[in-house]
Amino acid sequence: MNQEDCLFCKIVRKELNSNVVYEDDEVFAFEDINGRAPVHVLVVPRQHVANLEEIGQLPDGVTKRLFEVASEVAEKLDVTEGGYAVRINNGQDAGQEVFHLHLHVLGGKRLGMP
Ligand code: AMP
Ligand code: ZN
Repeated sequence: MNQEDCLFCKIVRKELNSNVVYEDDEVFAFEDINGRAPVHVLVVPRQHVANLEEIGQLPDGVTKRLFEVASEVAEKLDVTEGGYAVRINNGQDAGQEVFHLHLHVLGGKRLGMP
């Protein structure tokens, strides 16, 4: 999968529409199209990396920013107090469908482990 064909690269470049929740030079966050909780946002690095095995390719600081933005999104959407889950599906058994690393931020309802 190269960056031209990657769905989330297209969303980050705004070639495809999304409901943007947050963006800066390094990190982009948008609503999941098939939300499975009242809050379901995807937080992605602008730079394409497929999965956790490639996370070393990201510049210093971007990994930290992904988690900070997850927290900021939770704050913005008012689920910090109730709590929320940050989930990465990595690979086939986890059900990863889009091979551009992303954090799911899920909140607004009681969430369990699978
Ligand atoms: P994963 O299974 O972790 O790879 O999650 C991929 C997520 O991307 C799923 O929750 C999808 O609902 C979501 N998704 C797929 N296409 C879009 C899109 N065009 N805009 C927003 N979210 C999307
Ligand atoms: Zn990508």
